[in-house]
Amino acid sequence: MPRPAVAPPESHVETACPLDCPDACTLNVTLRGGRITRIDGSPKTEITRGYICAKVRGFHHRVYGEDRLLFPALRNGAKSAGTFRRYSWDEALDLIAERMLQIRAEYGGEAILPVSYGGSNGLLTQDTTDAMLFRRIGASRLLRTVCAAPTGAANLGLYGKMASVSYEDYPEARLIVLWGVNPGTSGIHLVPFIKEARKRGATLVVVDPRLTSLARQADVYLPVRPGTDLVVALALHRYLFEEGHADWSFLQEHTEGADALRERARPWTFERAAEVSGVAIETIRAFANLYAKSVPALVKCGWGLERNRNGGSAAAAILALPAVGGKFGVRGGGYSMSNSASWNIERTWLRDPEPPTRAINMNHLGRVLTDPDGTPIKMLFVYNCNPAVTMPDQNRVLRGLAREDLFTVVFDQVFTDTAQYADMLLPATTFLEHYDTAKSYGPVTMQLARPVIDQVGESRSNPDVFADLLRRLGLSDPADPADDLETMMQVLDGMPEPYGAELRERWSAHPPYNGRPIQFVDVFPRTANSKVRLFAEELDRQAPLGLYGFQPDPATAAFPLALISPASDRTISSTLGELRRPAVRLDVHPDDAAARGIEDGDAVRIFNELGEVRVAARVTPLVRRGTVAMPKGVWRRHTANGLTSNALVPDSLADLGGGACFNDARVQVEKTGKS
Ligand code: SF4
Repeated sequence: MPRPAVAPPESHVETACPLDCPDACTLNVTLRGGRITRIDGSPKTEITRGYICAKVRGFHHRVYGEDRLLFPALRNGAKSAGTFRRYSWDEALDLIAERMLQIRAEYGGEAILPVSYGGSNGLLTQDTTDAMLFRRIGASRLLRTVCAAPTGAANLGLYGKMASVSYEDYPEARLIVLWGVNPGTSGIHLVPFIKEARKRGATLVVVDPRLTSLARQADVYLPVRPGTDLVVALALHRYLFEEGHADWSFLQEHTEGADALRERARPWTFERAAEVSGVAIETIRAFANLYAKSVPALVKCGWGLERNRNGGSAAAAILALPAVGGKFGVRGGGYSMSNSASWNIERTWLRDPEPPTRAINMNHLGRVLTDPDGTPIKMLFVYNCNPAVTMPDQNRVLRGLAREDLFTVVFDQVFTDTAQYADMLLPATTFLEHYDTAKSYGPVTMQLARPVIDQVGESRSNPDVFADLLRRLGLSDPADPADDLETMMQVLDGMPEPYGAELRERWSAHPPYNGRPIQFVDVFPRTANSKVRLFAEELDRQAPLGLYGFQPDPATAAFPLALISPASDRTISSTLGELRRPAVRLDVHPDDAAARGIEDGDAVRIFNELGEVRVAARVTPLVRRGTVAMPKGVWRRHTANGLTSNALVPDSLADLGGGACFNDARVQVEKTGKS
């Protein structure tokens, strides 16, 4: 696959979006004189339908923006002062290789920690030559748990990550439940399918602490207190089991552990669930009734509900609902969540086995950098990630990054908040400048992303740079790919057939079951005995109070408000934060604002024992009483004191999967100035 020739004055090129979003859109990029002037959705594909989000419509402002990294650079001032001296790639990579070898000789390979997560979801930007390098040098292993770990653990434990209902089948449902997910912001291409279902008469239920645009349209809305989704789901199970709505023939044939789940659900009456969750008892009852009676009924399990101490059990209880209620076996019925595993792709191109080195949960990055248990971390290699703003306990992370004895490499597209703490900066290509794959995890689609412009500045792709480093370290193998194109070939060769061949031929692969699998007709649990494990033992062992055990709210009299940080329509996690206009606001319910004398636009201080954040307040009934909200993905420049909501987030872990507890921050808010 040759790179495209220099573009004529005006042309259109198709590629695909590999960013961390469920939709993986097909893109139509307009070029003028070899520069991108417009990015839009291709009308040719059923999911994208000719439109994309505003974030990627403006992505060329990142590509050519003033924050773009254009060449390697070495720090030449105080740590975090942000002053650098230009370096050549040779100088930069030689120096990094030398420091790696030095650190390994003095402290062992585990003193090196790669930090990466989700800057792209493509198969090439992560876990190709980068993993070869860090495995061969014996670096500490990073557990990528900042997102989707509890839901992933629950899905794996109950169903072995069975493929789930895709967007195209939503219109078949008569009941759609959106639980902890806001497609109006993330995964926007689901919305037309929900609207189509509504037109055909489907009922919509939304469970969310915020009155999102879809929640405003819902027939039943449950403004659940953060961290209590579990008890609502258990109350539904209790109703199904105890009121004669459980599908016992399905349970006997296809599941195990139903009795244990029933036992754990038994205490959760509607009354008790209402008291704990803050949702009116009539609303929970109406939801349970609807769910019991509707066919096909579809539950979309999102990621908002997992970011707390009960998140894994909540996801498991939600995913168990269609099994207990007998909702499988029809188009549009069952559950819908990440479809990332639908293609059965094993990373066979990664031949090196994982070494038995120390595993570090990325949610503990601040802890590990400031108070190591064992070998200290002496080198951080950061790519596809901006940990200065995305990890819990931000103050501790920043203290760790500021360590003079820590050599930090930041390999990124733009000058992020983490780049400020770098010792060495390396410029990375964007997905418009390199090859990659775009595999959706909402619908079931896979396409190739191809370079539509030459690399900007001296930027290089991830596979290319890590392959180069392998050679400089004397760790390369003749079978290693040399650059991104060769890496792409190895990835395509390693895919189950016919996907690799199809991607080579026509840039997209035909999905299994036409991308519309019916659960328990086309696809079945990928567990050892193909049964749903409603009470998976390993999950029960892992959760502090056992599977489905509810851990109470961590609020105190001093810090009574739950702080949540939902995704926004401006950034993809923190990606594109450099383009977001300054000053985010804290959403506060009018009653909570009045109790504190806060008016719309007032300057406020949000604080707890971990730190404080200063922003302006937006007084709005769109957030439930007792909960305040600040957007996810905020950079330091967006608040008055340079700290984000993560400065208030504990680095405690969810009950399953070691996931982050972003929504377990409990805070107080006080007014500091007039609007
Ligand atoms: S971020 Fe999502 S909606 Fe936006 S272009 Fe990429 S896949 Fe499409």
